[in-house]
Amino acid sequence: MSTSLDPEAVYTEALAWYRENWDPDLTLADWWGRLADAGWAFPSWPEGFGGRGLPGPLAKAATKARLAAGAFGPPNGVATFLTAPTLLHYGTDDQLQRYMPGIARGRDVWCQLFSEPGSGSDMASLATRAERDGEEWVVNGQKVWNSGAQHARYGILIARTDPDQPKHRGITYFLIDMDQDGVDVRPLREMTGDAAFNEVFLSDARVRDVDRLGEVGEGWRVAMTTLSHERDPDNVGLGDGAAFGRVDLTMTVGDHARNLSERVDGFSLALSGGVTKVLDRLVAEFDAAADPLLRQRLARILELRRTSRWSGQRATEAIKSGGQPGPEVSTLKLLGSETGRQIRDTGLAAMGADGMLWGDDAPHNGLFHSFAMFTPAQSIAGGTDEVQRNIIGERVLGLPREPGEAELRTRPWSELPRS
Ligand SMILES: Cc1cc2nc3c(=O)[nH]c(=O)nc-3n(C[C@H](O)[C@H](O)[C@H](O)COP(=O)(O)OP(=O)(O)OC[C@H]3O[C@@H](n4cnc5c(N)ncnc54)[C@H](O)[C@@H]3O)c2cc1C
Repeated sequence: MSTSLDPEAVYTEALAWYRENWDPDLTLADWWGRLADAGWAFPSWPEGFGGRGLPGPLAKAATKARLAAGAFGPPNGVATFLTAPTLLHYGTDDQLQRYMPGIARGRDVWCQLFSEPGSGSDMASLATRAERDGEEWVVNGQKVWNSGAQHARYGILIARTDPDQPKHRGITYFLIDMDQDGVDVRPLREMTGDAAFNEVFLSDARVRDVDRLGEVGEGWRVAMTTLSHERDPDNVGLGDGAAFGRVDLTMTVGDHARNLSERVDGFSLALSGGVTKVLDRLVAEFDAAADPLLRQRLARILELRRTSRWSGQRATEAIKSGGQPGPEVSTLKLLGSETGRQIRDTGLAAMGADGMLWGDDAPHNGLFHSFAMFTPAQSIAGGTDEVQRNIIGERVLGLPREPGEAELRTRPWSELPRS
């Protein structure tokens, strides 16, 4: 697979490929397979795993070509935006060969098993235990808020393997098969009406040692890689054809895309960035730009989005030079939360009294309203706004850590007070 190192040439090459290959009557399995085989699914990923190893600007040129051709995007979800970048960084050859094809082709849904009832912001205090048993590990504990776990074939899991080490050091990262008796997934209903996340009970669940990602006790470092990608809005695995949850791969791409555009949940809409298109439609429909106050609000959203794009470009440059997103991505995550709130309030105001409706009674079958109900979650998922501010303060600006934190970082986890 040879590709030029000039964005214009990449654009031309990709556009020619899309014009020849894009067909909405293909099944999703066939289309995602074609994209992965050609390396256009995720152009910045390595060859053989759905990509061409292209640096950021060239990969973006390929995405531009796809949009120009009107072709549907690659698969999307925890598998592509969290598992893949972590696996590509820490995975063994065997792990890459076993898991990357299913991810790049959208065959396998993954979930993230990090948060626990007593460990959210202070994730390093987690209590789920993994104990070695020959060539396997036995896992016991409870996880919570796990998006898509009810559909997932695999999970990325962090568990405590050495309680006598300080809290950040005795953690190990695993790739767990969700399809086993020891894993019990119970969906949780949210105020949006959807059940996007779950609680997951692990009772003598088994993980093979060959499915350990990174060294024993190094799980915190591996998890930080996952989280830095989660907070990066420029993450290439966050496609615009958002489709979290189970997807019927035998469906045609055209039918799947139509389903998505008619009814997406607020979660997917927030992550895909598609909500700004819905806002544009609402503003036109309700003639909201005629109101000077709403015009001001729209200008503010435009400004926030420009700032995000500019900062995103800076972050991409940092990733290119350093290999992984740094703590600076926390500024982008904060901007995303703020932009989401502004879009919500402006959209609801633009609709006037219709902003108070719900479900099928509301404009566009309540699509925007569903996003509005989801908006608070943007300030929580992937680390709360307060936690992002702490990261920026301590790790970007070099301010002192919270009082007492130094002692909590050095005492064995087994001696720490826990709720
Ligand atoms: C939509 C959604 C999807 C999610 N998906 C997943 C998933 O797939 N997998 C997964 O593992 N988790 C998931 N989460 C969980 C998410 O990561 C946690 O909710 C988040 O880390 C916060 O933890 P917590 O809910 O326990 O809140 P807590 O940590 O209990 O925080 C409560 C409040 O205290 C504040 N606070 C806590 N510590 C500090 C501090 N040191 N300084 C200042 N303020 C502080 C917080 O900002 C917050 O306002 C999801 C959450 C949401 C909302």
